[in-house]
Amino acid sequence: MSRNEHDSRLEQNCALATRLQHSVYEPPAGFGAVQPATWRASTVLFADVAALRSRDWRRKDGYTYGLHGTPTTFMLEQRLAEIEGACHALLCPSGLSAITLVDLALLEHGDAVLVPANGYGPGVEFAQRMLASWGIDAHLYDPLDVDSAARLITPRTRLLWLEAPGSVSMEMPDLRGLVELARAHGLRTAIDNTWAAGIALRPFELGIDISIQALTKYQSGGADVLMGAVMCRDDALHERLTLAHMRLGLGVGGDDASLVLRGLSTLALRYAAHDAAARRVAQWLQTQPQVRRVLHPALPDSPGHAHWARDCSAAAGLFSFTFAPEVTPARVDAFVDALQLFGIGYSWGGPRSLAVPYAIDAMRGAAWVDGSPLVRLAIGLEDADDLIADLAQALAVLSA
Ligand SMILES: *Cc1c(COP(=O)(O)O)cnc(C)c1O
Repeated sequence: MSRNEHDSRLEQNCALATRLQHSVYEPPAGFGAVQPATWRASTVLFADVAALRSRDWRRKDGYTYGLHGTPTTFMLEQRLAEIEGACHALLCPSGLSAITLVDLALLEHGDAVLVPANGYGPGVEFAQRMLASWGIDAHLYDPLDVDSAARLITPRTRLLWLEAPGSVSMEMPDLRGLVELARAHGLRTAIDNTWAAGIALRPFELGIDISIQALTKYQSGGADVLMGAVMCRDDALHERLTLAHMRLGLGVGGDDASLVLRGLSTLALRYAAHDAAARRVAQWLQTQPQVRRVLHPALPDSPGHAHWARDCSAAAGLFSFTFAPEVTPARVDAFVDALQLFGIGYSWGGPRSLAVPYAIDAMRGAAWVDGSPLVRLAIGLEDADDLIADLAQALAVLSA
């Protein structure tokens, strides 16, 4: 038995944290580097014209052109599919382009798509603006009400988007109920599974057809790479996504793929650390008189908590909280400005904690938000006690 066979047998019984360190990789003979090489290429040379002519770019047993993949990008795709429980993965230059790839691959003029009202904003905007301008109708459903999605289904509906939890307002939908609805109407389902990062939620075990993730977040972990992935189990669906991916000219650079591969080694550990610290900070915020509501799916009174408890094994370090309606937006801004350890900036999943105020009532009309000002926190890798002390001093500024 070779070392690699030994590793892959052992691997099947190991936890994700272990498997992440033991992915199969054959370094050049005599060079047992732990991390794989970074390959950069546009041109890939063929031995002769016959080899060039016989090469099928869709097959990942060889190389055709940099845009169709390199050993580095193929390895990242393979590892992401393994982590997610998928059979196939495609890399895209951002999380947003992973969303738009799914839309463009599956929808045609005259079709309709259902999108959760709390979906990732730019993805919703793409559906409502660009798809609509090409004759594809996008309808927004209430993510906490399966019937609201059912009422929007017409013979033209092809695709049901899911997101768990919703962006910014963090509602956890009834994924099983929504998948059942889609099945009954012959709709494809796609989930934006960025929050779960392949760890907290197993979309293919719930019968979801496609999972997309912004690798920009936890897989990279460094706040320094933009990338996305589209994953599925079905071969024919993958073929359709692959053709659209090629026709749109999507691809990622070897250096970026390498950074994400390196990030994967520590993914499980970082996710657990973000999760534990975020729950501590969220629970502390719940005890603060100025805080009206903490929106973290693992908290019992958070919207859709029962769905989280049923379908998820962990939570990301991302959550939001609201202030009493009488706290003016200007004072919320002053609170965020007073934070010293939390950076003010978009995205999440990196080592630095971040805070962003959102005018959530202008973004959507969820009843429970009732006009309360909202701040989203991304908990980084700082010590949770230090983050709590920082929030405490900024809340004191708010009260002053
Ligand atoms: C960040 C994010 C995206 C988009 O990722 P980018 O790489 O920034 O384009 C999509 N969905 C969710 C839920 C996200 O948080």
